[in-house]
Amino acid sequence: MRKPGCCAWQLYFCGEIHYVSVAMGTQKARETFDVAVAGAGPGGATAARYLAQQGFRVILFEKEKLPRVKICAGGIIPRVLRGLPEQATSVIEKHCSRAQVNIVDQGLHFVLKREQPIVSTTMRERFDFALVRAAEQAGAHVVPECRVLDFSEKEDGFDIFTSRGTFSSCFLVGADGALSVVARKAGFDGPVYLVSALETEVDVAPEQLRFYDGVVRFDFGIVPKGYGWVFPKKNHLSIGVGQMRKGSIHLENTLDRYLRYLGMENAVVFPKRGFVIPARPRRDGFVRGRSLLVGDAAGLVDPITGEGISAAIESGQIAAVALEKGGFRPDRVEAYYEDVLREKIVKDLRWGWLVSRLAYDHSKIRTFLFRVCGQQMCETMTDIIFGRKTYRSVFSNPFTYLRMFLPMRM
Ligand SMILES: Cc1cc2nc3c(=O)[nH]c(=O)nc-3n(C[C@H](O)[C@H](O)[C@H](O)COP(=O)(O)OP(=O)(O)OC[C@H]3O[C@@H](n4cnc5c(N)ncnc54)[C@H](O)[C@@H]3O)c2cc1C
Repeated sequence: MRKPGCCAWQLYFCGEIHYVSVAMGTQKARETFDVAVAGAGPGGATAARYLAQQGFRVILFEKEKLPRVKICAGGIIPRVLRGLPEQATSVIEKHCSRAQVNIVDQGLHFVLKREQPIVSTTMRERFDFALVRAAEQAGAHVVPECRVLDFSEKEDGFDIFTSRGTFSSCFLVGADGALSVVARKAGFDGPVYLVSALETEVDVAPEQLRFYDGVVRFDFGIVPKGYGWVFPKKNHLSIGVGQMRKGSIHLENTLDRYLRYLGMENAVVFPKRGFVIPARPRRDGFVRGRSLLVGDAAGLVDPITGEGISAAIESGQIAAVALEKGGFRPDRVEAYYEDVLREKIVKDLRWGWLVSRLAYDHSKIRTFLFRVCGQQMCETMTDIIFGRKTYRSVFSNPFTYLRMFLPMRM
């Protein structure tokens, strides 16, 4: 049975009436959904799935045709791997239980090994589509090739204007990525701190593919204030460079230089594709009335690594729980979402932001720390990726700074 959202009364009488495209000219009464979600990335698909599982009527808009390409290295960290639906784990390409971290300009090399994968890799079009399918199977109504253009707030919800007509919903989740239209139209401040990354897929010789089997590689000292990465997929490698602080460098030249450094200048390189990463959480909150932001739209990306899939999924889940626990009352939903999001994600990313400033803005300090306790720092970072530690638990602890210079693990 449907759970009574704020629109249960209307929905009961709306029965089977579906959304109506104005362009089609068939003006039936418009169905009001409990929740509309803009953007079918990991954040939007997860919010839609959880809400549909709870029995709410959910509509998920995606501006692209599905499955859609997403510019991304496709690295999934263990703390998110555990909670994925089966459809999404079945499209994992490689599990990597070893990581190489190189400080190229200093000749420093560190190797991390774990029993469990440190990073698992996917192709985002398959991974994201699997999450959308899981949402659809849970009962969400998915509308591809449908761009959210604008919306107007009514007393009990929204009219949402899209490239495929007008829809109504009681709440709106903005999961539409780093350049979120929902955030802009809902009156949030301008773009959060955006940095850029560029990546490509590379066909390499079988011996190179074997060399990277089960291994992810991170190279610092290649990109000013950022790093380069090599992630193995089933039949090729994803290679990229990203800057984690703002700055004007030519990323394409940097990626070419990195490929040469890796000895892959003769490999078949697919077109290079770049996009922005919001490397800092929003400072003006995550809810405006009946609209909530999740994932990149909320600026929930790790400021040190650029990893954002885990926070997109987790925030999508928290948004769904907030709507349910808040009983669709805007004040309660806002209180729950803001509190839980801050406690579970934002406070930690703020510590990550401070560490990223230290690491990327002050290369001499970074080099000194890697020289003194590089292996410890890499092990700690791995523990954070696994969810056994957090930036907050490590860096707010005064003993961390004492232990850094003693020959023991943090
Ligand atoms: C080069 C690069 C490499 C990266 N590598 C990694 C990595 O290895 N691991 C990792 O965890 N993170 C990585 N990231 C970050 C990661 O891609 C994002 O943090 C993650 O995709 C955020 O998920 P999301 O659901 O919030 O948004 P997105 O995945 O961006 O999804 C947003 C969706 O909204 C749709 N949309 C946008 N506007 C509208 C609209 N108006 N109407 C309807 N739909 C709309 C978009 O088409 C898109 O499908 C990388 C980023 C870049 C740029």
